[in-house]
Amino acid sequence: MRVLVAGAAGFVGSHLVDRLLADGHTVVGVDNLCTGRPENLAHLVGHPLFTFMEADVTAPLEVDGPLQRVYHLASPASPVDYLERPFETLYAGSDGTRALATLALGRKARFLLTSTSEVYGDPEVHPQPEGYWGKVNSIGPRSVYDEAKRYAEALTMAFHRYEGLETRIARIFNTYGPRMRHADGRVIPNFAVQALLGEPLTVYGDGSQTRSYCFVTDTVDGLIRLMEGSYSLPVNLGNPYELTVRELARAILQQVGRPEDLVFEALPEDDPRVRRPDITLAQRELGWAPRVGFNEGIAATLDQFRADLGL
Ligand code: NAD
Ligand code: UDP
Repeated sequence: MRVLVAGAAGFVGSHLVDRLLADGHTVVGVDNLCTGRPENLAHLVGHPLFTFMEADVTAPLEVDGPLQRVYHLASPASPVDYLERPFETLYAGSDGTRALATLALGRKARFLLTSTSEVYGDPEVHPQPEGYWGKVNSIGPRSVYDEAKRYAEALTMAFHRYEGLETRIARIFNTYGPRMRHADGRVIPNFAVQALLGEPLTVYGDGSQTRSYCFVTDTVDGLIRLMEGSYSLPVNLGNPYELTVRELARAILQQVGRPEDLVFEALPEDDPRVRRPDITLAQRELGWAPRVGFNEGIAATLDQFRADLGL
C-alpha cells in the first residue's frame, strides 16, 4: 500500500514509518519539524520506498498519487511542547485533522487519528475504559492539547458518520522509547538524562501521581492492527503497567546503579492524579497486548540516551 504518515519525523511517527517500510509498504512522510527531528529519519535517506515532505498539515496538502492509508500523528505531544505552542496544537487537532481527513476522503483512503489518554483528563474512573467520557478542564493550560484531541475525535467521527470515511481512533497512553528528545520535558527523558548525568531527578508534586508506560514498538504494533482491523470507535493503546512517579524515579535510578536522589518541584496545574488504560477492547478487537516489559524497554531507552550523550 501507499501510506501517508503525518508527524513522521516525531518520536512515534518515525517508528511507525520504520515498521511500515519493513512490512513492504511505500511511505510518504509529512512533517513541519516543529517538535520532530530530521535525525529520526536520517537512516531512511535514499530508501526506495520512502519520501519525505516538509509541510504543515494545518494547510491543505498537495500530495501526488494514490493513497490507501493516512495516519495523523502530527501534533506537539509533550506538555512542555504544547504549552509552548498553544495555537499550533489547537490547529493541529482542528485544521490538521480536517485537512488530512479531507485528503483521505478524496483518495478513498482509510484515516487513523492518534488521540490520547488526555481525553480522560483527571479521571474519576480508574483504570480508564473507552466508555468513560472524561473529566477535562476546558479552559486550563492543558486544554490546548486535551480539547484539540477531543475536537479531533468529534471531527473524525463526523467524517465517518456523514461522509462515509473509513476512520480509526487510537487513544494512546504514555509511550516511551528511543528517539524521544532529551529536552522534550516528558518524565522519562527528563529522568533518564538526569539519572545518566548524575543529577537529582525532578519529581513534580509529591510523586504519588501515576502513569502507565508503553514501549514504542508495542504502540506502533497497536496502531497498525487498529488501522488494518474493522473497528471504527476509539480504542485505548497503552500498557497497564502503572507506577507512581516516585516509583518510576527509583526504577530508573536502580537501572543506572544509583541510590535515591530526588528533588521535589511544583506540580503542574491540572496534572492528572492517575492514569492506566483498560485494554480489554484492544485485546478483544485487535488481538493486541503490549509485549515489551518495563525493564527491557527502559534499558533500550537508556542505551539510546547514553549513546546520544556520548557516555
Ligand atoms: P512528537 O512531538 O515527537 O511528534 C509529533 C510530530 O508531529 C513532530 O515530528 C512534529 O514536528 C509534527 N508536527 C506537529 N505539528 C505539525 C503540523 N502542523 N504539520 C506537520 N507536522 C507537525 O510526539 P509523539 O510522542 O511522537 O506523538 C505523536 C502523536 O501521538 C501525537 O499526535 C500525540 O498527540 C500522540 N500521542 C503520543 C503519546 C506519547 O506518549 N508519545 C501519547 C498520546 C498521544
Ligand atoms: N513529571 C515529573 N518530573 C518531570 C517531568 C514530569 O514528576 O521531570 C511528572 C508530571 O508531573 C506527570 C508525570 O510525570 O505527573 C508524567 O508527565 P509527562 O509530561 O511525561 O506526561 P503526561 O502524562 O503528564 O502528559
